[in-house]
Amino acid sequence: MAEVASPVAAFPSLETALKHYFGYDQFRPGQRSVIEAVLKNQDALVIMPTGGGKSLCYQLPALLKLGVMVVVSPLIALMQDQVDSLQDNGIAATCLNSAIAFETLRQREADLLAGKIKLLYVSPERLMSAGFLELLSQLIQTVGVSGFAIDEAHCVSEWGHDFRPEYRQLSVLRAKFPQIGVMGLTATATERVRSDIAQQLRLCDPLIQVSSFNRPNLFYEVRPKGRDGYQQVQRQVKQHQGSGIIYCLSRKRVDELAQRLTADGESVLPYHAGLSDDTRRENQTRFIRDDVRLMVATVAFGMGINKPDVRFVIHYDIPRNIEGYYQESGRAGRDGEPAHCSLYLAYGDVATAEFLIGQKPNQDEQRIARQQLRQMVDYAEATVCRRRVQLSYFGEFLEGACQQCDNCINPPPLEDWTIEAQKFLSCVARCQERFGMAHIIDVLRGSKKQKVIDLRHDQLSTHGIGKDRSVDEWRLLGRSLLHQRLVDETTDGYPVLKLNAASWQVLRNQLAVQVAIPTDFVAGPATDTSPSDDAPEVTQLLTGLKALRKRLADQQSVPPYVVFPESALRQMARTRPQTLEAFGQVSGVGSRKLAQYGEVFTDAIRQFCADHGLASDPGAGGRRPRPSRERRQTVGDTHRLTLELYRQGRSLQEIADQRGLKASTVASHLERLIHQGEAVDIDQVVEPDQQRTIRSALAEMEGASLTEIRDRIGAAVSYEDIRLVRAMWHRDRASG
Ligand code: ADP
Ligand code: ZN
Repeated sequence: MAEVASPVAAFPSLETALKHYFGYDQFRPGQRSVIEAVLKNQDALVIMPTGGGKSLCYQLPALLKLGVMVVVSPLIALMQDQVDSLQDNGIAATCLNSAIAFETLRQREADLLAGKIKLLYVSPERLMSAGFLELLSQLIQTVGVSGFAIDEAHCVSEWGHDFRPEYRQLSVLRAKFPQIGVMGLTATATERVRSDIAQQLRLCDPLIQVSSFNRPNLFYEVRPKGRDGYQQVQRQVKQHQGSGIIYCLSRKRVDELAQRLTADGESVLPYHAGLSDDTRRENQTRFIRDDVRLMVATVAFGMGINKPDVRFVIHYDIPRNIEGYYQESGRAGRDGEPAHCSLYLAYGDVATAEFLIGQKPNQDEQRIARQQLRQMVDYAEATVCRRRVQLSYFGEFLEGACQQCDNCINPPPLEDWTIEAQKFLSCVARCQERFGMAHIIDVLRGSKKQKVIDLRHDQLSTHGIGKDRSVDEWRLLGRSLLHQRLVDETTDGYPVLKLNAASWQVLRNQLAVQVAIPTDFVAGPATDTSPSDDAPEVTQLLTGLKALRKRLADQQSVPPYVVFPESALRQMARTRPQTLEAFGQVSGVGSRKLAQYGEVFTDAIRQFCADHGLASDPGAGGRRPRPSRERRQTVGDTHRLTLELYRQGRSLQEIADQRGLKASTVASHLERLIHQGEAVDIDQVVEPDQQRTIRSALAEMEGASLTEIRDRIGAAVSYEDIRLVRAMWHRDRASG
């Protein structure tokens, strides 16, 4: 075989190759060292969280080495996605699996042997077939095989959460083709699975790349789910922009929630194992292509869904364990842009989950499941940094606080509930440690239920000593005592409260009890990717570019992110490149994309600039103002524009619609303007009578949250009304 120069020689650095093929300027952490190892034909084990950028670790070497890279991937749907994305970057990729017609398969095999393909995706079943192993041998002797990449490599391990027997046979690759490098890639973390992968794949002195599981672009929060859980979710969904996934525990709940949201005008589709294969596939495709904004789903949805621009994931019901939660919530923000993960906690749901666990036939399974659920509840009730709790579960230590979770942003107040705890525990003792929490609370609250009377628990000294607290408050305390291990609960299926040594310390006044009081959610910074930070022309241009992207994507039947990632569009909207040269500088624009889309996009941008009297590209010719100044100015501008429209007599909603903002954002602009002393006539939106009502509630409930105030006044007033009146009220008081 003649010596052919490998394409790697064509690039002065790996970074130039990265920019050329994929349009990115920099490697993500860990990518470079893996790529270097693969270029040297060294084996590798790559453990990176979802969104970490694993694919690039074999895709770039595939392009820089001679021959074909063979990628084993368990999910046919995912394969097609990856192939689409690569082809859109002008990279010769294809796949072979059982879903493909015979004729097409033959053609693809011919292309492979003709050296026309750089990346080949196959399912493990096909890989192991005699015919394919024969094809491999032929490839090795002709065009060459540059490596084997085993995606979702945790499937090889029985200790992983997704064992697949066909993965077990992959060791054949090493046995048959010892000269070809093998790499395993996974997002699963446990030590045991890692060493299992290395062993099962027969990796030989592999480079082991373990990236941090911290995903700094994700904001984590837990919200208490009240009786109006549906309204809470609906409100939250309205606040977010972009695509979102809402996970529910059961098919029934998926269907119910999807129906209600649809009835309320949201763009939603359901996904669960009860739907036909076709329906599921179609719903998934419509979600990925941005034809529908929300997916309401059971955990059946997600594995292998390669949609990088999911902006929020909501868990409407408590997940079963932390690992699952990490993976599911981690489907948000794979593109590295800010995204939001919320979990709704209701103790009723925990009880349901516990009940379901009780139905499992196997005692050991029950025990493990209970423990995992308890850890999940611990997480949800944690008063410390959420990220720290998650990462510690994976054996990683987070230095300091993340400032990107509800507890960091808004630490819940601790209250001393020692007296209540003593009442509670002594009631447990009086009931002779033979009853569960519900009964203890009945006794504390002085219930006259038949069961209480029959047991003569109405005669106990603790009967009725807790009337001053609600059932919910007692449950909060009971849970908190359990999680602080200040009382125990039997785990044999009939949870009975038992005192332990720490309980007695509390009873003897040797230990104080602090309970974290969940505050009603106060919105964190977020993902409200609402463009309020951007100048209006940036927002408008972004909207236009998104529409253009969607059109181009639909023409080619690919998801919009395949055309350009969101971050690239945003950069275009901000820098307004009008020449191909400037356009090529945008991160995410590689040589192929430049050739394919450069014209249309720069045309659209030029047109926009002409229409809006924006003469030049703000990034060109060094005329760009310093970023910090630019930012400050635009904040001012966006507020002023709101004020101008407001003074023309438009309603908040009209302004919001016109500017592509949310009404709440418009209200926050006005609020800020009021605080800054601008003359804002709020009579325009809030009736004087209503203003009086709100003002008196504000005066009576000093320091109360917006929600509390609204609960007090009733749903006739909106949050925006309260915010405006509150701003005026503060200003009036400040000025005496
Ligand atoms: P994983 O398989 O680890 O979940 P992917 O390989 O799908 O992650 O990558 C997630 C997203 O990050 C993709 O949209 C990908 O194009 C993008 N990406 C990967 N590497 C880089 C990089 N170096 N710079 C910018 N974006 C990247
Ligand atoms: Zn935090």
